Amino acid sequence: MTAKLVQGYEVVIGFETHTQLSTRSKIFSRASVAFGAEPNTQACAVDMALPGTLPVMNMGAVERAIEFGLAVNAHIAERSIFARKNYFYPDLPKGYQISQFEIPVVQGGEVSFFLEEGKETVRKTVRLERAHLEEDAGKSLHEDFIGQSGIDLNRAGTPLLEIVTQPDMRSSDEAVAYAKELHKIVTWVGICDGNMQEGSFRCDANVSVRKPGQPLGTRREIKNLNSFKFMQQAIDYEVRWQIDQIEDGHAIQQATVLFDPDTGETRAMRTKEDAADYRYFPDPDLPPLVIGRDWVERVKGEMAELPRVMAERFVKDYALPEYDATQLTQSKAVAAYFEATAKACGQAKLASNWIMGEVSRRLNVSEMGIEQAPVSAAQLAALIGRISDNTISNNAARQVFEGLWNKEGPSGSEGDVDAIIEAKGLKQMNDTGELEKIIDEVLAANPKNVEEFKAGNAKALNGLVGPIMKASKGKANPGQVNALLMKKLGG
Ligand code: ADP
Ligand code: MG
Repeated sequence: MTAKLVQGYEVVIGFETHTQLSTRSKIFSRASVAFGAEPNTQACAVDMALPGTLPVMNMGAVERAIEFGLAVNAHIAERSIFARKNYFYPDLPKGYQISQFEIPVVQGGEVSFFLEEGKETVRKTVRLERAHLEEDAGKSLHEDFIGQSGIDLNRAGTPLLEIVTQPDMRSSDEAVAYAKELHKIVTWVGICDGNMQEGSFRCDANVSVRKPGQPLGTRREIKNLNSFKFMQQAIDYEVRWQIDQIEDGHAIQQATVLFDPDTGETRAMRTKEDAADYRYFPDPDLPPLVIGRDWVERVKGEMAELPRVMAERFVKDYALPEYDATQLTQSKAVAAYFEATAKACGQAKLASNWIMGEVSRRLNVSEMGIEQAPVSAAQLAALIGRISDNTISNNAARQVFEGLWNKEGPSGSEGDVDAIIEAKGLKQMNDTGELEKIIDEVLAANPKNVEEFKAGNAKALNGLVGPIMKASKGKANPGQVNALLMKKLGG
């Protein structure tokens, strides 16, 4: 696949994503990680780095790292090491962050997803470099109204899994699609609540540009992108900015930048530190993290079916195209809705079309999740049943769906598909005798069209079908109308 160029430049993006793990307590202490508590009410002696305290590994955090590794087909290290990443910052009282450096717990793996490219849908795979466990730092709170800053250590020691990709993405669209897929995986597996506003899933985008065929350009890292919309805007701005710089003859300086949603611009925060600046060394307070094969096997056995495995099953069991199967496994709720519908009506492809089409469209308009959909899987299945047994046309089915969605229907049988079809008079005319009568009348009233059709003008047929459908009040079955017309006109 050839990469799309921007003003003759190839865009290169790699992601670092901090996912907050869904444990109840911190990674090295027993303090709570609940969101929104009063400052410093959830920081214990370990989190405050009081002298003499020691970190103790939270095995729940390790288990979640294992789950992630299994979900992305990575290697789970049997032995990984915690390191001290040394730097000074007021919200880091220890003077170092405990992280993993040389030997991370999760190594390799990949995330793949579909991407619309023009009219085509292509599958894209992003290779992961690693995912490592680490603790979060505290927060500085700048209280402008009193002109003072305070330190809140509630967040200190919150367990994070930092997921790092290879520089495999080639556009902001790909980057956003990757981030959405990763978000889906971590929330599906349940290792992270995925709440981007609360900072449970924050992405850093490393962006560089180069002329095709050249070595990688110098990157700038956009920090803490906490919405998919800002992610796209920030990367697009950054790409244009870097190209402008290079075109003006300036070299790109490696830097960490912030995106300002108000101006839509990225701004340099600091020049980038190198690994050497952090003086990494193994933390003598923590033994190596040892994960036996039996532990990995046990975790694997307890994990719910993964989205990609479920998608493969949908292809196999329901004969769905790969694209449909991937769309329908966007969330567990959508997948469950699909399976319930498909099983109840026995028409998997129609169920898929309706869910990806009308159902999604209505959900989007009303900003709802499928859990809140006013049309149940059973109702949708009943509706699909009435399309496939020719009771109603596709067009009529959309009106019935609308009725179901708005909880219409004769009092006492609201939400009943057949009652709505009856009440709206949408039943297709499947009585050939009645339809033939209408056709004969229309043919008699439009001799010119009949003549033209017989003379070889196929388009003249439209002039006949229209009035027939109209005379039947839209209830004629278009396929049947065509067949009968052909018979009568000898076409
Ligand atoms: P750090 O940012 O902590 O120094 P790395 O050097 O491992 O860590 O790189 C972090 C991320 O930057 C990775 O996702 C990697 O794929 C990406 N990256 C590295 N070089 C480039 C580049 N030239 N352009 C874009 N992304 C890059
Ligand atoms: Mg980085």
